[in-house]
Amino acid sequence: MSITPTTTGQDTLQKFIFDNAAVRGELIDISATWREVLKRHDYPAPVKKVLGHMTAAAALLSANLKFNGSIVMQIHGDGPVNLLVVECDAELRLRATAKLVTGATVPDDATLTTLLNAQGKGRFVITLDPLDKVPGQQPYQGIVPLDGDDVATVIENYMLRSEQLDTKLWLAADDHVSRGLLLQKLPYHGGKAEATPLSEEDALETWNRAVMLGSTLKEKELLETGIDVLIQRLFWEETIRVFDPLHPQFHCSCTREKVGNMLKMLGREEVESVIAELGQVAVNCDFCGQHYAYDKVDCAQLFASDAPVETLIPAGEAKH
Ligand SMILES: [Zn+2]
Repeated sequence: MSITPTTTGQDTLQKFIFDNAAVRGELIDISATWREVLKRHDYPAPVKKVLGHMTAAAALLSANLKFNGSIVMQIHGDGPVNLLVVECDAELRLRATAKLVTGATVPDDATLTTLLNAQGKGRFVITLDPLDKVPGQQPYQGIVPLDGDDVATVIENYMLRSEQLDTKLWLAADDHVSRGLLLQKLPYHGGKAEATPLSEEDALETWNRAVMLGSTLKEKELLETGIDVLIQRLFWEETIRVFDPLHPQFHCSCTREKVGNMLKMLGREEVESVIAELGQVAVNCDFCGQHYAYDKVDCAQLFASDAPVETLIPAGEAKH
């Protein structure tokens, strides 16, 4: 029954809902996107694993939120890894990067904790940046301590504490594959169900059964099995409704204009001093590796233009 991961092909996110509407779920295979990320970076295996989990999780959360915009998921670390970032936009286009401490060694058995929370100062940050912002509106940002020893647990705790949503995640990633399962209990407000005709007690029973079925899913099985097979294997005894599949993909939103704006924010003096020393300012995109270079002429044009700095790089993203 197991499917060998294909080297090409389209990524798929499959949403489903239990027929009594007590539980919703999503299965994702984001392997093609993940391989696009890895093509551009060579990270130690434990870093790949954590970032691969985050990439699947960002798409799962993004598709699940009643929110039209980008989600940026970050872990700020205090160990050998400084920062992990995954961005997913409203069309499920993703990019991801990791920043390691220069010269740091990463043991093969490193965990989320030893990589990013060695002194208990790691932070998990979710930023929701709406597409249709009113002028002056700031993106929503949630920042919590790194509570858990894997990405799934950290997000489950965040969703429960910050969003009051019972959420369970199963994530798996290696050099070729990144897949995940998300289950979420549909919320009751003041004892009233949002969508299900079930009593709260029966809805809870459905939720517990769904989590039990999800918990039979082992990492190896998730790595080796396509999601179309998994959905049947896990939930064959349940009546579930599936929605039209969505197709996440890799995309980097960097542009020469954005890099130019960032240089403007650095200031003319700073940029000119680098050009005086090195002949040019060279910037590589941390996400896709795209190279941008500005020489003396480019720089003069950049600062001669009176166009305002329009596209500000959000806080935490200024890593070019
Ligand atoms: Zn880029």
